[in-house]
Amino acid sequence: MSKVTFQKSNTAFYSTLKSRVDEYFKSHHLEKTGNWELYTKTLILVPLAVGLFFSVLFFHDSLSVVASLGMCALLGLTLASMGFNIMHDACHGAYSKKDWVNELLGYSLNIMGGNAFIWKQKHNIIHHTYTNVDGVDDDIAKSPLIRQCYTQKWVPAHKWQHIYMFIVYAISSFAWVFIMDFNKYLSRKIYRTKMWDVNRKEQIIFWVGKLYYLGVFILLPISIVGLKAWAIGFGVMHVTMGLSLALVFQLAHVVEGAQFEEAYDDKHIENDWAIHQVVTTANFAPKNLLVRWYVGGLNYQIEHHLFPKVSHVHYPAISQIVKDVCKEYHINYNEFKTTRSAILSHIKMMKEFGDHPQPVAA
Ligand SMILES: [Zn+2]
Repeated sequence: MSKVTFQKSNTAFYSTLKSRVDEYFKSHHLEKTGNWELYTKTLILVPLAVGLFFSVLFFHDSLSVVASLGMCALLGLTLASMGFNIMHDACHGAYSKKDWVNELLGYSLNIMGGNAFIWKQKHNIIHHTYTNVDGVDDDIAKSPLIRQCYTQKWVPAHKWQHIYMFIVYAISSFAWVFIMDFNKYLSRKIYRTKMWDVNRKEQIIFWVGKLYYLGVFILLPISIVGLKAWAIGFGVMHVTMGLSLALVFQLAHVVEGAQFEEAYDDKHIENDWAIHQVVTTANFAPKNLLVRWYVGGLNYQIEHHLFPKVSHVHYPAISQIVKDVCKEYHINYNEFKTTRSAILSHIKMMKEFGDHPQPVAA
């Protein structure tokens, strides 16, 4: 992997920001980890997912086709929300003050078909350090299927990527569970970065997790509802799950105003790490309570990237501090007022990367 370094001589922005955010938690006598709001979400989302799963399995005979498929779609959305709210906070160590609680709830990813060990390196380390750095960040490493920045190879098919990307997103969670995890595990690489040592315990957890998924999400449903009904329901569940997971993460980094770097060789980034996080990231729909609840505060990605160990339930409160400090240091705080405007901006950028091999001069 190429060696990427950040500017370290001037970190005044981050130290000012950190001390003001620390002051906020101190003066309000708050822990930085999750609170009743997050625990309530957990108590709603987990029983909802379990209830939907078993209802569609055992009562499918008395349900109409539309109702069954609607429940599968809702199950996909609920699992994605569990990922945003519970797994994501837990894997960052932000769900609880207790390490064992974070560790345990991080395994909710394995229950949904993924693998927490791989995720922690892919997301917490690679994506959160080298955000939008082409050549390192696995989140923008979908080329040649889709091209997410100018430094990636252009092919004529990319002209239509702003349309077909929705199909790619729709199958993304399916590919995550059945292809990408295995690619990473077997190659011991996350894109171009060597994977942490996979010890015996992690090897067992990987295979037990995948076998459990095969048993519970594939073999058990097939034995109850039959192959055809399972295939349709399972497909619908993954479409809603994949679309929501992919869109929420794309809206944070592949929109107008978000910057990219390229590091196929050694690279020195002119910004310090914290400024790099702000200029590569965007927020959306800050006032939409339903969106905020559903996406686990990931519409406040700037705050998340600056303070990944702070639970998402605190992001709206600290966002004003972040905005103010960005303004003081003349750093652009990129925010889309609505989800719709962020989606349109993402489509526009993907069309831009698809239409033009190189940036068009303004
Ligand atoms: Zn994160």
